[in-house]
Amino acid sequence: MLQQTQVKTVIPYFLKFVTKIPNLKALSKCNEKKVLKLWEGLGYYRRAKNLHKTATILVKNYNSKIPKKFEKIIKLPGVGEYTASALSALVHNKACIPIDGNVKRVFSRLFIIEEYNTNFHKEVKKITNKLFNTNRNADLAEALMEFGAIVCRPRNPLCKICNLKKYCKSFKKENYILPKKKFSIKEKKFNICCYLNKYKKEIALAKNQNLSFLNNFKMPEIQVAVACNNLRKEGWHYLCNYKNNISNIKMNINLFYKFTKKKPKKFYWHSVNKLGNEFIPTFTKKIITKIEKLYL
Ligand code: SF4
Repeated sequence: MLQQTQVKTVIPYFLKFVTKIPNLKALSKCNEKKVLKLWEGLGYYRRAKNLHKTATILVKNYNSKIPKKFEKIIKLPGVGEYTASALSALVHNKACIPIDGNVKRVFSRLFIIEEYNTNFHKEVKKITNKLFNTNRNADLAEALMEFGAIVCRPRNPLCKICNLKKYCKSFKKENYILPKKKFSIKEKKFNICCYLNKYKKEIALAKNQNLSFLNNFKMPEIQVAVACNNLRKEGWHYLCNYKNNISNIKMNINLFYKFTKKKPKKFYWHSVNKLGNEFIPTFTKKIITKIEKLYL
């Protein structure tokens, strides 16, 4: 849950999730719809799907335990280099350093290695083996993350109180690698076209297969913006314009609707008033909220 999402946002979701699904076995027995329903609103739904698949594999093949070998951990769905290193270090006390943004900054400052150096991970491994002679690998991994967040901060690092300053090349040279300015994300225009059944108060939804960042979400027809005039000629009515940021894309959306009894193939009718137990992503819920006003 914490990938791409802040702790304060995650807490209520996490508490609800573990109340309903208290352990790995329960998660493996759940159907995916239930997991997605509990995840509803958190976004990045692939995380939920991967978590569910991983739980099933762990229960079936590894007696509900995290495997010991790094090569096996990294093969689990949704697990990359960082998560595999974190699990190896924190669960099995292996000498692996999960390199997140904080840890990267610490090492790049300590030894003046460019963060974008392709050998960064190899260099860090050599250094950690030399610098930290410890069996407390789990504590070391956690301490490095905290150290980066609290002491070797992105701006204004607390060098005066830093225990590592006598090893730190940046400190000696008084030249700190500061975070680069975030590049601005370009806004993109989209048209969303909603087929509406006026009398039954329904909206036509289908799984999106056109835009990778919204893949498999149930939603109305969505297209990278074409001229609005063309849509009007085709009988679409303009409802409103709004913005929605999703997966690092700033979406500038023009919302259109058409009352009709016909829906395109692959679409199904969904009640505008009743959300029920079906998993509907927040992106689509926002559209439905705007559409509801047409029925008032
Ligand atoms: S001396 Fe300063 S720059 Fe170097 S590791 Fe410590 S806090 Fe970071």
